[in-house]
This record gives sequence, C-alpha cells and structure tokens, in this order.
Amino acid sequence: MATRTKTGKGPVLVITGGSRGIGAATARLAAAQGYRVAVNYNSNAKAAAKTVQAIEKAGGKAIAIQADVSQEDQAISLFEETEAQFGPIYGLVNNAGIIGSSGRVEDLTAEALEAVMRTNVIGAFLCAREAVKRMSTKNGGAGGAIVNVSSRASALGSPGEFVHYAASKGAIDSMTVGLAREVGRDGIRVNAVSPGLILTEIHGSVGDAGRLKRLVGSVPLGRVGSALEVAKTILFLLSPHASYVTGTILQVSGGR
Ligand code: NAP
Repeated sequence: MATRTKTGKGPVLVITGGSRGIGAATARLAAAQGYRVAVNYNSNAKAAAKTVQAIEKAGGKAIAIQADVSQEDQAISLFEETEAQFGPIYGLVNNAGIIGSSGRVEDLTAEALEAVMRTNVIGAFLCAREAVKRMSTKNGGAGGAIVNVSSRASALGSPGEFVHYAASKGAIDSMTVGLAREVGRDGIRVNAVSPGLILTEIHGSVGDAGRLKRLVGSVPLGRVGSALEVAKTILFLLSPHASYVTGTILQVSGGR
C-alpha cells in the first residue's frame, strides 16, 4: 500500500506509457493502492481515457496526459502538468517503450534505430532527469522512487529479431545502476523490472502476433506472464516494503 503524504492524499505517480499493456496494469493497481496516477500516452488517447475511466470507476484518482517522452519539451511538460494537477511527485515508472521493427541488424535502418533509442533510452533518461530534479532532497523535495521497465532482451540479445531493442534495454540497465548510486543520498531509490514474455500488444506491433506462442517453450515456468504480474513487482519496488532496495534489476520472466 502507498504511504499517505502530509496532505493526507495519496502519493503522486507518473507512469509513462500508462495507457496500455504493462503501464495500464500498473496504473490500475497503483490507483487501487491509493496512488494518484498520471497516465501518460503518446498517440492513443482512447486507450488512455479507458484506463483513466476504469481507475475512476473503481474510486481511484488518475489523469491522462499526452506527451511523446522522446521529445524533451514534451517530457518536461508531462511533469509540469502532473505537478499542476496533483502537486509534488513521489514516483516515476519509466515504462514507455517500443520495439519499432523486427529483423536482422544488417537490415536495420538508421531511422528505425533512432526511433527505438529516442523513446526507450532518451525518453527514459529525460523523464528520470525531470523526476530526480523534483524529488531530490537536495532540491527541497521529499525523495521518492523510480522504477525503470527494462527487458530480459538486454541479456538475451534478441538475435534475428531486434538486437537494437535489446541494446536499448541494456542502456536502461546501466542507467538503473548508475542513477541509483548517484541519487541514493538524495532520498531516491532507483530500480528496474526486467520482464520476459508478457501478454501485451507490443508483440503484434512488429507484425509477429504468434511470437509468444512460438517462444513459450523457453520459459521455465511454462507460460507467458501477465501485465498484472509485472505491475505487482513494480508496485513492490515503489513501496516502503522495498525501502532498502536500490540499483536492483528484478527479473519478472518465469525464469526465462
Ligand atoms: P504496449 O502494450 O505496446 O504499450 C506501450 C505503451 O507505451 C503505450 O501506452 C504507448 O502509448 C506508450 N508509448 C510508446 N511510445 C511512447 C512515447 N514516445 N511517449 C509516450 N508513450 C509512449 O507495450 P508493453 O508490452 O506494455 O511494454 C511496456 C514496457 O515493457 C516497454 O518498455 C517494453 O519494452 C517493456 N517490455 C515488454 C515486454 C512484453 O513482453 N510485453 C517484455 C519486456 C519488456 P500509445 O499507445 O499512445 O502510443
């Protein structure tokens, strides 16, 4: 459960890509636990509205905020708007991510590479920067927690599929470790989850809807995971239950 703030209101959480998939499951669970949630999305306003409506129907508090996190001005405005609506920010879930395209590295275009790096790496860095500026006790903030959404691809490399995506998640792993060490004394914990094969629309986004079925045999637990199972781990890392946990990359992959 979230700790109430001095005002008696639930802590404020920014979830990038909170409109669909793992982000949406995290938004719903966080709101159910008392967080006030900024549900960020890029292009699918309908999905964001649906997630916010589901949260409100269940008695929670959420707002939808459009921002392409790969663009600096929009990443900044995401945080400004969240603060304007909800007040000081307690936490960030750096979840927005794309695969972009599928294929071998020899066929990779510079445009496809740049798009993935812009969203998955630069977007995550920009949002971490904006969160740290606001949460740091050095700047008068109350501290807080960041959870980055990496991928088991960072270790497995995704050969023949999307090595560029795997490499973008390798950057997230390094950022998690480095930033955790950098801001630990500023009252901020930084961790990551590293999901395996999770049932969301991201697999279909590269025209490979049969991917999960094809790869499920490689999962020691013998099944794919749900977005809710990842969300539960993210909420644990955000919560006071993880008060002595920082710089950790927690696998949520059924052993894959
Ligand atoms: P998803 O269902 O495709 O949802 C992606 C979310 O990110 C959507 O809300 C989307 O918003 C948002 N988004 C994409 N680009 C954005 C941008 N530039 N700015 C702001 N929001 C943006 O994906 P998912 O499977 O839930 O994946 C979530 C995270 O988990 C990603 O970082 C992914 O790499 C990671 N992950 C997923 C799996 C898996 O098996 N599903 C495994 C390992 C890691 P719009 O709809 O508005 O574009």
